[in-house]
Amino acid sequence: MAGTHTEPALGIVPTQEETLLREAVAGICASFGREYMQQKRDANEPPRELWDALAARGYMGVNIPEEYDGGGLGMTALSWVGEEIAAAGCSLLLIVVSPAIVGNILDKHGTLEQKERWLRGIGAGTTKIAFAITESDAGSNSHKLSTSLRRDGSRFILNGQKTFISGVEDADAVLVVARTRLADGELGLPSLAIVDVDAPGFTRQSIPMAVRGADRQWTLFFDDVELEEERLIGGENGGLGVVFDGLNPERIMGASISTGVGRLALSLGAAYAREREVWGRPIGAHQGVAHPLAEAKVQLELARLMTQKAAALYDAAAPGAGESANMAKYAAAEAAIHCVDSAIQAHGGNGFALEYGLSDLWWAARVARTAPVSREMVLNYVAEHSLGLPKSY
Ligand SMILES: Cc1cc2nc3c(=O)[nH]c(=O)nc-3n(C[C@H](O)[C@H](O)[C@H](O)COP(=O)(O)OP(=O)(O)OC[C@H]3O[C@@H](n4cnc5c(N)ncnc54)[C@H](O)[C@@H]3O)c2cc1C
Repeated sequence: MAGTHTEPALGIVPTQEETLLREAVAGICASFGREYMQQKRDANEPPRELWDALAARGYMGVNIPEEYDGGGLGMTALSWVGEEIAAAGCSLLLIVVSPAIVGNILDKHGTLEQKERWLRGIGAGTTKIAFAITESDAGSNSHKLSTSLRRDGSRFILNGQKTFISGVEDADAVLVVARTRLADGELGLPSLAIVDVDAPGFTRQSIPMAVRGADRQWTLFFDDVELEEERLIGGENGGLGVVFDGLNPERIMGASISTGVGRLALSLGAAYAREREVWGRPIGAHQGVAHPLAEAKVQLELARLMTQKAAALYDAAAPGAGESANMAKYAAAEAAIHCVDSAIQAHGGNGFALEYGLSDLWWAARVARTAPVSREMVLNYVAEHSLGLPKSY
């Protein structure tokens, strides 16, 4: 994209627009509260009322172009929304997937008809589309994907399985990464297809997970699912390039959610350390308690800055967006884990009592070291692309 980008704008001091947007999102989330999320999770129901309340004010499609009913404010603003939602103790994983991954792929590669059919709803927050790339036999190696799309006249037939797919219970459709089955039976380049959740031949099974969020993870089964050609985004054999256009937004949102989780954990940890007295003064007066929290705060603010940089570069289509998005995702995941761990330690035994809300945050923070892209694959990227080291795999 070198030569075609606009000047990236990295605001160091929040603008009034950013402050107002953050306050509004935080206010809506606070009116639902952690109890609402717990009720939804215990009832196995998606947190739809919260999503709808945020969507009604335009926040769930704030990055999508205005001509498609979005806010036109790019990934920078969506990352503010994601961070505030997480900092309020509400987890909406579909924000990583629907407006960020699928929205950006449709915006860049969808035809006018496809944008009208799906992007407009994503912009308004009324359509939710999950994203399915992971397969148990392929893992981090996307060249080994085996879900297949076979042409049959003007239609395509989809077969295969996906795993760990988030939010399908509350999605209208899933954007599935599959590979073309060539005439000789071999698998060719990847193509992306939008599959409705109620399409005949599409079934799913819930995966019991330790992560205590309201969103669930699923194994998906595609058994001769028929698709019209209009459902292929980026065309037949669109290639991994189309997929990759969704991955930097995914990393930016993964980072934003981690920094939100980190903020929440530190605020709980610091509040407890200011009040709890064991030796006649607050435990926060002991450096053994204060320093881990302070270190985590430094790590968190560095990660937030890199996340803002990544979003600014992405929105400007400037060089370095991929490197920054990977670094932001890595730094934010590690910072969030450090924040939650320090906050748990500061709480003593109460860190493990459900009432204090920290044990819920543990898995929310820890999962970010593995998903949506693992720590090791980010380090592989940085080693190869930033440092010019040989690829090991
Ligand atoms: C809560 C949750 C939600 C998810 N949601 C979605 C979703 O919505 N859609 C979707 O498509 N997927 C989703 N995933 C899947 C997720 O993206 C993958 O789990 C993740 O990318 C890791 O892939 P894997 O599990 O196959 O691990 P593997 O690829 O099997 O890796 C196992 C370990 O080996 C390491 N490793 C692998 N290759 C290398 C290498 N070359 N060098 C160094 N280390 C290596 C990995 O880093 C990891 O630590 C989700 C996962 C979770 C846990």
